[in-house]
Amino acid sequence: MDIGPYSFEEFLERASAFHGNPAPGLVIGGYMVELARSRLPQRTIFDAVVETPKCLPDAVQLLTPCSIGNGWMKVINWGLYALTLYDKYTGKGVRVWLDPERLEKWPEIRAWYLKLKPAREQDKDRLLNEMRRAGGSVCGVSPVRVKIEEFKKKSRGAIEICSVCKEGYPSNDGSVCRKCQQASPYMEIES
Ligand SMILES: [Zn+2]
Repeated sequence: MDIGPYSFEEFLERASAFHGNPAPGLVIGGYMVELARSRLPQRTIFDAVVETPKCLPDAVQLLTPCSIGNGWMKVINWGLYALTLYDKYTGKGVRVWLDPERLEKWPEIRAWYLKLKPAREQDKDRLLNEMRRAGGSVCGVSPVRVKIEEFKKKSRGAIEICSVCKEGYPSNDGSVCRKCQQASPYMEIES
């Protein structure tokens, strides 16, 4: 089954170029994006909500103009394999999710999704082949209305220079930048 404007093979190539490898999550995600888009009225200007940071945001970024960087995609870390595309002016949209009840016929997809076997025991060719044949048929679809007010961009306000690290930071964050206020992910290294 095609994925938007791409044949399955073309999409695997694009997924590899963008994501490093044709991850199964990206492939099923491609079908999910196209399913959601097909249920929106034509020419809808849409934004996206994605409910996991893993793989699925890249499917949205590959197939639509929505990206994290341009703010048209919001990522919520709920660990749910689900996404919504919605009219950015009205909030009316479509939520699509991977539905365990529709996976009875697709043992490899089910095992992958529910993590029923270790990654090294997965048969990736069979998994991708099931995804190609199943397309969007393994997804639930439901109309939703997004609270667009909550997603409006909040300006971060003025920029100040941090007195500790001398980088620019949003002055609303306090007297020094967040990196200098909080437990930083970076370790000190000897220079
Ligand atoms: Zn700082």
